[in-house]
Amino acid sequence: MRIVLCALTMTMVLSGLANRDAKAAWFECGTVAPFHVQSDYVLRNPSAVLQIVKQLKHDFEKTLQLTPSQRPVEVRLFLNKRDYKRHVSKRIPRGEKHPALFVKGTDVSWVYIYSQPDFSKNLRHECAHALLHNSLFVLPLWLDEGLAQYLELPTDRAASEHAHLAVIRRAVTRGWRPNLQKLEKKSTHDRFLESDYQESWAWVHFLLQGPQESRKTLRDYLKRIESRKFAGRMSEWMETSTFDFDRQFVAHFRPKRSRALWSRK
Ligand SMILES: [Zn+2]
Repeated sequence: MRIVLCALTMTMVLSGLANRDAKAAWFECGTVAPFHVQSDYVLRNPSAVLQIVKQLKHDFEKTLQLTPSQRPVEVRLFLNKRDYKRHVSKRIPRGEKHPALFVKGTDVSWVYIYSQPDFSKNLRHECAHALLHNSLFVLPLWLDEGLAQYLELPTDRAASEHAHLAVIRRAVTRGWRPNLQKLEKKSTHDRFLESDYQESWAWVHFLLQGPQESRKTLRDYLKRIESRKFAGRMSEWMETSTFDFDRQFVAHFRPKRSRALWSRK
C-alpha cells in the first residue's frame, strides 16, 4: 500500500530566505503561541483552524512530555493550490509540488498549506515538525517523521486510527521485520521511501504505546536531546539493553493486541 501524506510533505531548512514572506495582503486569523496564523482569503471560521493548532500543541506536550518553545511559527493558509504554488515556488522551488510545507528559518519558522480534504491532518503534521524543531536542536529523520505522522491525529485517535496501523500489522503477520539501524542511515528525504515513513511511524507507535521499557527509552532519548547533550543513535541504546526491542516490536503489532489496550495508556 502506498502512503500519501509523508511522501508528499516536506521539511526544508533555510537561513535568510525564511525571514522574507512578501505578499500584498494577509488576513489575520489569530495566534495560539507559538503559532501565528494568517490566510490569503477570508476564513469562514478562523477559530476552527486555531483550535487545530491548539489541540496539536496540547497533544505534543501530553504525548512527548516536552515543553514547546515560544520561537514563533508563522502559518500561512492559501485558498487554492495555484496561489500556494505561486507563492511557495518563489522561495522553495522544490516545495511547490507538496500539499503542505514546513520551512525552518533562523529566527522564525513557516508552515504553508492550502485548502484540501486532508487539511487538518497535513496542518498538524507540518506544525508538529515546527514544534519538534523548536524544542529539539537535532532529531534523526526517522524520529522526526515518525513523530510528525503520529501527531497527525488527535491523542484519542492517534494510536488506533492511523492508516499505517493496518499496513504494519499485515506486514508483521506476513513475516516482515523492522530494522532501525538501516532506517537510521537514511538522513535525507531524497532517500526516504514510503516504506521508511511507515516503519518510522511504527517505531514511534511502539515506543509510545508499547511496554514500559520502550516508553522510557523514547522519553529518555528525547530528554537527552532537549538538554542539548549528545544522544547517539537509538539503536545503540537498544543494543545495550536487556529488553529485546525487535521481538517486542513484533509482539506489539500482532493482530491479537486490541485497540482498547492502546487507547487506555
Ligand atoms: Zn513530515
